[in-house]
Amino acid sequence: MLNIQNLTTSYGQIKAIRGITLEVPEGKIVSLIGANGAGKTTTMRTIAGQLKPEAGTITFCGQRIEGSRPHQIVKAGLALVPEGRAILGKMTVLENLEMGAFQRNDAQGIKDDMEKMMTWFPILKERLSQLGGTMSGGQQQMLAIARALMSRPKLLLLDEPSMGLAPIVVADIFKVVKEINAEGTTVLIVEQNVKQALKIADYGYVLEAGQIVLDGTGVALLNDERVKEAYLGGR
Ligand code: ATP
Repeated sequence: MLNIQNLTTSYGQIKAIRGITLEVPEGKIVSLIGANGAGKTTTMRTIAGQLKPEAGTITFCGQRIEGSRPHQIVKAGLALVPEGRAILGKMTVLENLEMGAFQRNDAQGIKDDMEKMMTWFPILKERLSQLGGTMSGGQQQMLAIARALMSRPKLLLLDEPSMGLAPIVVADIFKVVKEINAEGTTVLIVEQNVKQALKIADYGYVLEAGQIVLDGTGVALLNDERVKEAYLGGR
């Protein structure tokens, strides 16, 4: 579904990612793990069209998308939940969700999806008229994911959904990501929470200093000595 070849993105002189090659097959969950500053957010922002790559290709559903505008990429079926969530704090939960569907005009489909969000995220149902900014971190993350899903993406990109959240909330988020995937949405997730991200992943890639240094199934990476040593506290 998503195929990235030799992708390089720079900030001025700094090459934040250098020749990344990875694949996200349809129906799967793929995790990209790495430490702070490894280039995870840069990768996601490049895929979502917010940064222009210096070199390489991004093919999504058979179509080249590198260098396309962010709204064209959403329209093609790809939605990013950015690091830090970026929900609209002064808008209500309902308005945030409606914003996610702004490029659609299938009223019935939007209504159906809104109902589906209420099932996946019951907490949002209770709080439709609450301002987004007044919700807890975990609730805001749920809202950010639900908002992205309102564009009915084929591929959902999650940039560090567990950041700053308590372990119990993190577990809820990963559980719902699995459910979303089971209902047909392909997922690419970047995380510093290596254990959780590999547990739910069909396949994973390890990013270090802008390059992929290791890849394998989620299980294989969880049991890999190098991953254990560097990311799982040597366990
Ligand atoms: P984090 O977990 O902190 O988000 P990350 O793995 O997502 O880390 P990136 O944010 O992609 O990493 O950053 C990769 C590299 O690019 C880092 O060395 C970072 O300092 C640099 N970088 C990121 N954003 C910018 C920017 N706007 N201008 C210059 N350098 C940047």
